[in-house]
Amino acid sequence: MPLRLYNTMSSKIEEFRPLRGSEVRMYACGPTVYDYGHIGNFRTFVAVDLLRRFLLQSGYSVRHVMNITDVDDKIIRNSARDGVSVQQYTEKYERAFLEDSAMIGIEEPFLVRATEHIAAMADFVANLVEKGVAYRAEDGSYYFRIAKFPEYGKLSKRDFSGMLDGARVDVDEYDKDSARDFALWKAPKPGEAFWETKIGPGRPGWHLECSVMSMQELGESFDLHAGGEDLIFPHHENEIAQSESLTGKPFSHFWFHARFLLVEGEKMSKSLGNFFTLRDLILKGHKPSSIRYLLTSVPYRNQLNFTFDGLKQAAVSVERLRSFRLRLTAASLEPGANPLIQSLAAESVDRMRAALEDDLNTAQAQAAIFEMVRQANTAFDGGSLRKEDVAPLLAALSKFDEIFAVLDDNDVSKMKRVLDWACAEGREMEISDELREAVKSEQLSDDNIEAKINEMKTARTARDFKRSDAIRAELADAGILVEITKEGIRWRRK
Ligand code: AMP
Ligand code: ZN
Repeated sequence: MPLRLYNTMSSKIEEFRPLRGSEVRMYACGPTVYDYGHIGNFRTFVAVDLLRRFLLQSGYSVRHVMNITDVDDKIIRNSARDGVSVQQYTEKYERAFLEDSAMIGIEEPFLVRATEHIAAMADFVANLVEKGVAYRAEDGSYYFRIAKFPEYGKLSKRDFSGMLDGARVDVDEYDKDSARDFALWKAPKPGEAFWETKIGPGRPGWHLECSVMSMQELGESFDLHAGGEDLIFPHHENEIAQSESLTGKPFSHFWFHARFLLVEGEKMSKSLGNFFTLRDLILKGHKPSSIRYLLTSVPYRNQLNFTFDGLKQAAVSVERLRSFRLRLTAASLEPGANPLIQSLAAESVDRMRAALEDDLNTAQAQAAIFEMVRQANTAFDGGSLRKEDVAPLLAALSKFDEIFAVLDDNDVSKMKRVLDWACAEGREMEISDELREAVKSEQLSDDNIEAKINEMKTARTARDFKRSDAIRAELADAGILVEITKEGIRWRRK
């Protein structure tokens, strides 16, 4: 079965097929780097990561581009307030974003930065003016004339037929119910950062950035464009208007939007005190793997209600999977194979695949792997598991983990980095006892290390060198050097 995905443009679940052979070209709207990323942002980024991983697992090659919005109204305002350049202001948050993404298991997309494409953005505006769909205002800003794009509203399904031609708006985010000519390019106000370009001094509007960079990297028409549901209007609507007016071709084939996350049943907001960055949660002592697991536990189009109970439950789930894998690799079993277990492993892989093909039903995929673990553990306990059953069960776990990426036990080294960061930033007060305890336990006992080395040996015997390397890297992170020699595997503490 091919992958079926919901397409916001058609409001239907459709078969996903790339426009060009087996290559998927997808673009995700990235973060605006003016602060640390919060768990809502990561809900969306993890959903896109999951899609990317599943496409790769399905045999596609994936060109996944994401922008870093490193210039916008808030950035200009904050950098002016702090008396630093836009670049000085954003580089800290961009670095933090990339570290956080890696921490939560997001494979890095191909990154493009708005400030590195200013000339191309000015060209784009000039071309829109030439086509008669954009105009220059008295102050040197440029606007897109939405009356020239009759399909305006087709993504968000809004009817703008009664709107006022020429009414303008120059902020990036605006009232969702009003359609106005939007700013493509903003002339500088006194004290604001700007670039000198062929269309005059100024800076690009946010919507323009994504149109220019996505088409530059992926072509005029590409397969999929992603973001959180708040981007449907105006951001994506405006991207479509700009891009399709210029090229006369459909812009993105699929539109993929993740539903907004709630925290304890409410919209996340600083004033409600329920606003959490990824780092806030780690400072409280939660593991990155639990957070990733929780964020994937509800399919991307369903409302995910983030709760601390849910986070604890996610930690238990991850632990159960890890213990099961350890149990399999450490077991000494009788030779032979149990046909029931052999088919259980194969069916579980099929079930996971079918769930993900169904508009990325992550909850069902997780349920399938847990059912496998439950039945295999029962067979273990009853003595009916055989030596040859280990490989297919491990293979099913690996298939699961290619997508969910929570099995490698590398949480503590990541948590230590957050602890060190908090100390460096003078935020010691926010470090919980739980985090301190978790980091202290990083000192692996000799028994733990021996168990890992045995796991490495089993992996190498099964020629699973990827797994063996992952364990070796995990041990290296915990300060254990592993040497592989002809005589066997040796280890020592650094
Ligand atoms: P921003 O940095 O605000 O531009 O947001 C980056 C990404 O996070 C965008 O795709 C947003 O749609 C998404 N996003 C922001 N808040 C949430 C939330 N509460 N739940 C899910 N996605 C969100
Ligand atoms: Zn965008």
